[in-house]
Amino acid sequence: MECKQNISWSYTDARSLYDLPFNDLLFRAQCVHRENFDPNHIQMSELLNIKTGGCPEDCGYCSQSVHNGSRLKATRLMKADEVIANAKQAQARGATRFCMGAAWRSLQPRDEMAIVEMIKEVKALGLETCMTLGKLSSEQALSLSQAGLDYYNHNIDTSECFYPQVTTTHTFRDRLDTLDHVRRAGMKVCCGGILGLGETVKDRIDMLLTLANLPVPPESVPINMLMPMPDSRMADVPPVDSIAFVRVVALARLMMPSSYVRLTAGRANMSNETQTLCFLAGANSIFIGDTLLTASNPDKNSDNDLMHRLGMTHDQKQTSISKV
Ligand code: SAM
Ligand code: SF4
Repeated sequence: MECKQNISWSYTDARSLYDLPFNDLLFRAQCVHRENFDPNHIQMSELLNIKTGGCPEDCGYCSQSVHNGSRLKATRLMKADEVIANAKQAQARGATRFCMGAAWRSLQPRDEMAIVEMIKEVKALGLETCMTLGKLSSEQALSLSQAGLDYYNHNIDTSECFYPQVTTTHTFRDRLDTLDHVRRAGMKVCCGGILGLGETVKDRIDMLLTLANLPVPPESVPINMLMPMPDSRMADVPPVDSIAFVRVVALARLMMPSSYVRLTAGRANMSNETQTLCFLAGANSIFIGDTLLTASNPDKNSDNDLMHRLGMTHDQKQTSISKV
């Protein structure tokens, strides 16, 4: 699935879509969605924390940062056989992609061989592979790509202007540099952000502009709703309005018509109706599994029940109308 290079978006154009009457915005998003995807198909991924806690970065939302008062116990990198066992269970639950995340500032040379081994063994199961390990150098991106890694996740989280309010220990530019290394190494890009950090509507639209105006937009765009982590710097930010959340999903669909838009963290706090409106707006991927790194996630039964009630399916292979 190759994301098309597209027109470059202006803030004015994006904002005029965002401000449409809700029904008009969703109608347009659903039409564009249908031009690019089967509207009743949901791609399912599962995310495993292969190294928990103790991260030296100060991302204000994150329970794994040493700067946030979380009492999370830091662990060492998980052994490959335990990762593979988790991957097999995820596959049995219907996941087609297995994502492995580490609470690191960046990939350390001492861990590179173990990570390469994990990629090869998960890929050998027939799963798509994704890693999210923090910053990468161009050499590291190449070595992960040569190991067969399909996707690399590295979220920009918000707008460039608001980013310093979220994190001070690395820059928005650092994030974009890693995305560039990933793209040049031939891997697919998974990049999105979080709503509910205290950002403005303009910040949310600017975040989508950055993504949609990349030379090649991300193949996968995770949209998170902040899961307030106790003791974290952003624990008390007022929750994002669910209609505004759906508007951002619809705008992501319109601005990146051939990307997978993934409902990521926060689904556990969303009503079924909000999730359903997000699917109508063009979201077509979710994470399954009871936890998302350290956050709760709807369990398999509630996901299956919602998919059944909506008549939505997930196949073993990702299919879409215009691309296979
Ligand atoms: N350490 C790696 C990094 O920072 O790139 C891995 C990040 S891991 C995929 C966590 C991602 O999930 C973050 O980039 C953020 O977008 C999202 N996330 C983390 N904590 C969250 C929370 N409390 N609520 C919502 N999204 C969260
Ligand atoms: Fe570290 Fe990633 Fe959490 Fe930021 S989001 S504190 S880089 S684990």
